[in-house]
Amino acid sequence: MPPPDIRFCRRCGAGTVQRVPAGEDRERAVCPACDYVDYVNPTNVVGTVPTWGQDREIVLLCRRAIEPRKGLWTLPAGFLEVGETIAEGAERETREEAGARVEMGPLFSILDVVTARQVHLFFLARLRDVDLHPGPETIENRLFALDDIPWDELAFRTVRHTLECFVSDRDAGAFGLHTGTIH
Ligand SMILES: [Zn+2]
Repeated sequence: MPPPDIRFCRRCGAGTVQRVPAGEDRERAVCPACDYVDYVNPTNVVGTVPTWGQDREIVLLCRRAIEPRKGLWTLPAGFLEVGETIAEGAERETREEAGARVEMGPLFSILDVVTARQVHLFFLARLRDVDLHPGPETIENRLFALDDIPWDELAFRTVRHTLECFVSDRDAGAFGLHTGTIH
């Protein structure tokens, strides 16, 4: 994927040029006025697999109120913010999108989405209660028995892959850590 078209310096506002900075191996947006180099690196998307029930037999999904993939179902997730750990970010996104309070569990999936310049990370989590209040990015929350997961109406491939691993691990009786690349 080509780098994004960064036309103005974020430090001084001058027009940037695309060139290879000294000592580097790829083109970047460089400011000829103040020499600022605008590095573009992948962002982290953090979320949870929030479950209910002693045997994690029910999973919470959120129906998206915003683009992209408006109207489709997702696990609560969003961009990691500066100043928080990945677990803190995942818990915050779960609170913001689903209005759900969770007890955080272990990291469950780490998925490279190279074409989107993202890394997606999902934690297992247990709902503390089912008093749920969807946030502005969510049309509705719903608790799904695993047999009723709407596989054809999931918003993102990382969500699908994470849920597939979750169902498979639960059937096997042990949860692992899953890595992969989504093309
Ligand atoms: Zn500049």
